[in-house]
Amino acid sequence: MPAPHERSTSPTLLVIEDDDTIGRHLDTGLRAHGYATTWCRTGIGGLAAARASAPDVVLLDLGLPDSDGIDIARELRSRQPDLLLVILTARTDEIDVIAGLDAGADDYLVKPFALSVLLARLRAHLRRLPSGHDGHDGHEAALRVGDLVVDTQARTCRLGDVEVSLRPKEFDLLAVLAEHAGTALSREDLMARVWDENWFGPTKTLDVTLASLRHRLAQAAVQAVPPTEPPSISTLRGFGYRLEACGE
Ligand code: CA
Repeated sequence: MPAPHERSTSPTLLVIEDDDTIGRHLDTGLRAHGYATTWCRTGIGGLAAARASAPDVVLLDLGLPDSDGIDIARELRSRQPDLLLVILTARTDEIDVIAGLDAGADDYLVKPFALSVLLARLRAHLRRLPSGHDGHDGHEAALRVGDLVVDTQARTCRLGDVEVSLRPKEFDLLAVLAEHAGTALSREDLMARVWDENWFGPTKTLDVTLASLRHRLAQAAVQAVPPTEPPSISTLRGFGYRLEACGE
C-alpha cells in the first residue's frame, strides 16, 4: 500500500511552536535550507497537520498553549513510528527532557539554540533514515561520522588516516555511539547495549571506558595527517552521552 505522503527529495518538516518569533525564524531558516516546512502554532493543529501530511521530521515545542507537549509527542510517535521527532524546550529541567525522550522523542534542543546546531542535528539524523535523503542506499558495515570510520564487521576504527587501537568495550561503546550519532543515549541504554542487558549495578565503568575512549580518539586526531578533530562525545548530565561529528 503506498504511503499517503509521497516522499520528495527534500525532507518534509513540521514545526509545532506557538512563539511567533521562534516559529517564523525556524520556518524561514529551514525553508532556506531546502526543507519543505509547515508551521503550526498549537498542539491540536500540529496533530492534524501531521495526520494530513505524514512529515519526515517534527520539531515540537513542549510548552504549547492548548496541550501538553509530552502528550503530543506520545501521540505523534504512536501514529508514526518512523517519524524523526525532536523536542524543543525552554525548560532547563532535565525531567522535561527525559519525559520527552521517554514519550518517544529522538532528540531534543534547549532554547535558545542556533539554527546551525539544529541543521547539523537534522543532517546527522536524516543520514540514518532507512529510505535515505542523501543518496546513500543499501547496508554499510562501516559507520562514518566526520573523519571517523568504525567498521563493525572487521572491528576496526580509523580516524583520518590513523588506525585507532581500542579495547573491546571501548570499541563496542564507540560503535553504539557512532551508530546513533547526534542522538542522546541514556546511561542505562549504553550499559545494556555494551555490557549486559540485565545491568542494574553502578555505571562507573561506563565513565571510565568513555574517558579512555575520548583519550584514544584525541591522540589519534593529533597523529593523523593532516591533523583532524575527533568526534565530540558530549556528557549530558543526569542522562547520558551523545556523539557528534566535530563542527556539527
Ligand atoms: Ca511555547
